[in-house]
Amino acid sequence: MSKLNLRPDLPLSAVASIAEEAAAAGWTDVLPMAGGEPRFAPPPAALSALSSASVEAVTKYTPFRGTVPLLAGIQRKLSEVNDLSVDLSEIIALPGGAQALFSALSVLIGPDRREVVLIDPCWEHYPRIAQAAGAEVRIVPTVREGAHDRIDLDALRGAVTSRTAAVLLNTPLNPTGSVLTAAELREIGDVCGAARARLVVDEEYETFVYGPHQHVSARSVVPEAISLFSFSKSFALTGIRLGYICADPETVDAIKRFGLYTYMYSASPSMVMAAEMLRDDVRPYLKNARGEYEAKAADLSANLDALPGVSCVMPEGGVYVFPRIAQEEGSSVAMRLVRERHLLCVPGEAAGATGRGHVRLFIGLDDAQNREAVLRVREFVEADAE
Ligand code: PMP
Repeated sequence: MSKLNLRPDLPLSAVASIAEEAAAAGWTDVLPMAGGEPRFAPPPAALSALSSASVEAVTKYTPFRGTVPLLAGIQRKLSEVNDLSVDLSEIIALPGGAQALFSALSVLIGPDRREVVLIDPCWEHYPRIAQAAGAEVRIVPTVREGAHDRIDLDALRGAVTSRTAAVLLNTPLNPTGSVLTAAELREIGDVCGAARARLVVDEEYETFVYGPHQHVSARSVVPEAISLFSFSKSFALTGIRLGYICADPETVDAIKRFGLYTYMYSASPSMVMAAEMLRDDVRPYLKNARGEYEAKAADLSANLDALPGVSCVMPEGGVYVFPRIAQEEGSSVAMRLVRERHLLCVPGEAAGATGRGHVRLFIGLDDAQNREAVLRVREFVEADAE
């Protein structure tokens, strides 16, 4: 036991511990489907921007909310892609979607409003981020209908009170891919509005919506909502650590002040990269990324669903499939897939009780690896049935 007084409430996430376990074991045949690192190439303009930028532009402090070319590029993207016409004062860039979550919650939580309402299932980081920001977490269960996680409005109304700082949602939802409709966002917005709680919507996976499903940006239908975005997944730029928030100017200003005392600024080379690629119309690039992932999601879900004892619906969106795999009571099927088959995946229950019996698999590996993953699940379920 360490003598240091460190926070015991911040353990490693399931994804991080699985990655560490696999690295320590030194397996050479892993299929890395636990995390969600995009494998397609970033826009070429993002990379060429660095070599043509001035030394000044990539080494010096920048304005707090982001450089003018970056904010202008984001403004244009929000209008073209998200149907959101906003003033520059409604945008702030910050170091990644995870920081966007922490900053937004941090400015909303106060002595009178300490609670953050989450749904089950949700990204396993949400309760921890909320706690790190000083919140108490309340969880509202959802009802799974096909590939959709329906939020029970009565249950939500019961949870959202004068103590609620924020309701934090995610569309498309990590891990299940469930996509919120405009009507759902409006209804949830009304529940929040009635209690003067803020609706915060994480739109990290906005690009990845399939079939008839459309991504609806929360702020395009709920004017008081706070929409969070990132360059990580849509542009395959996880390592540049750049995200942005769209909110009313007063909230943006509060987030700017919070940033001043935490990270101060986003990294200037990242801003140069993003600003340069946003000069182009990014819609064809995003359409390609969506098409590639839609085909992968369709193949993986159909091939998994065809296995005995496995059911897997085509997700509405997102970068994961979320099959349910029949298993003996009490054992974690995901951990057995990791240890016995070296198929790195995340236990569904990391997302909450509704995820029990499911595993989360990233869809973005190449097609041969995805076929190999299905084969390993097949061997696993067949060996178990013997
Ligand atoms: N939101 C969700 C739902 C995520 O899954 C992730 C990363 N996997 C993030 C936010 C944060 O990612 P980043 O900080 O790279 O934008």
